[in-house]
Amino acid sequence: MTALSVLKCIECGHEHQIDEPVYVCSRCSGLLDVVHDLERLRPSISRETFDGRLRQVEAPYNSGVWRFKELVFPAVADDQIVTRGEGNTTLYRAPAKLAAWVGSRALSLKHEGENPTGSFKDRGMTGGVTHAKLVGATSALCASTGNTSASMASYCALADLQALVFFPYGNIAAGKLAQSVAYGALNVQVRGDFDACLELVRQASRQLGIYLLNSVNPFRLEGQKTIAFEILQQRRWRVPDWIVLPGGNLGNTSAFGKGLSELYTLGIIDRLPRIAVIQAEGAAPFYQSYREGFATRHQSKAQTLATAIKIGNPASYFKARRTLSLTDGVVESVTDQEILDAKAMVDTSGIGCEPASAASVAGIRKLIAAGVIGADQEVVGVLTGHVLKDPEIIMHYHQGTLAGIQSSFANQLRTIDPTLSDVQSLLSRSHAPSAL
Ligand SMILES: *Cc1c(COP(=O)(O)O)cnc(C)c1O
Ligand SMILES: [Zn+2]
Repeated sequence: MTALSVLKCIECGHEHQIDEPVYVCSRCSGLLDVVHDLERLRPSISRETFDGRLRQVEAPYNSGVWRFKELVFPAVADDQIVTRGEGNTTLYRAPAKLAAWVGSRALSLKHEGENPTGSFKDRGMTGGVTHAKLVGATSALCASTGNTSASMASYCALADLQALVFFPYGNIAAGKLAQSVAYGALNVQVRGDFDACLELVRQASRQLGIYLLNSVNPFRLEGQKTIAFEILQQRRWRVPDWIVLPGGNLGNTSAFGKGLSELYTLGIIDRLPRIAVIQAEGAAPFYQSYREGFATRHQSKAQTLATAIKIGNPASYFKARRTLSLTDGVVESVTDQEILDAKAMVDTSGIGCEPASAASVAGIRKLIAAGVIGADQEVVGVLTGHVLKDPEIIMHYHQGTLAGIQSSFANQLRTIDPTLSDVQSLLSRSHAPSAL
């Protein structure tokens, strides 16, 4: 019998077996998809199957990734899966003040910062590390702006793999670096930017035979597409008009398009949402290409305070382009000022997120103002990372110490002597909370 899933090149169609540790096509170096035999899987895939597993307490089906196993990695045995019960993140209805600021009457936020290591990367890592174990890897490596490494370090520790991480020198948010150190990875600072780290990692993986866990690894994208699956399931399979997410290396953008098209092919959903990808203005090569109808693939030197999307040469460019054409998608760019103001609004709403995540919200606001997204259209923004990932930028923003950034919604610390009169004079000032 033929395999349930194969690796297929998106450029030339050449196929590889899924137990081959290849990350790009051996013929043309194109990106690979994990292609599942949907016709054979069709009888075992239904809304009822996926919904029934919501009651599961035990691994792996208590995971918001493996609940959709038939579309993630159907052939793997349940006891081989390396999982931390990832996914199952909250889909928030946006609080009124935040929704009003954004200009939407139908805004929800999918908070992927609620994953075990605080970002959506865990959904990809459970797929990637499970595959690494199956092919007999003993070590794995990645280049990272911080969240991939935090996640990889954790899942590798769990699976008893040695983790090797390459960071761009001096550019990692404190929370992320601390995680990678804590989980016991071998952490290497490279004198270069993220794009240089990724190139180095690709060479090292090829020449030294170390398992590669960046998002060019197609098994990561199989896990990450379950963000979209879970959004739909939480909406009782009603398709929103828009799903909006930040774009860095464009792995998530690629994963969403693939997953949504599979659900549509199988008749689990009756239409496709439109995808909007938001990039930071200083790291917007995909936006530039989009503006030119994808005539050229741009690269740039990336510059943004949102370090998780500080990427100048997105690895999944061609897959992301496919997502855009499939979903009639759009790409927008936002400034760091817009990102940090959106973050302050998400944070003060009580939900909180890391800077790159707030690009989603800043982008929705901009697209509504431009009339691309309607105020009454159903929009789901993806918050990709946890508020504690980057504590330094929070304090700098609220203290007004970020160069070139106006702290529009600053919440300053106050200091008083331990006297009741100091408390009284503090509360009598205009911005202080009123008496109960
Ligand atoms: C990785 C990451 C992104 C970028 O996702 P891509 O798939 O690389 O486009 C955005 N936000 C956060 C918090 C991330 O960790
Ligand atoms: Zn090929």
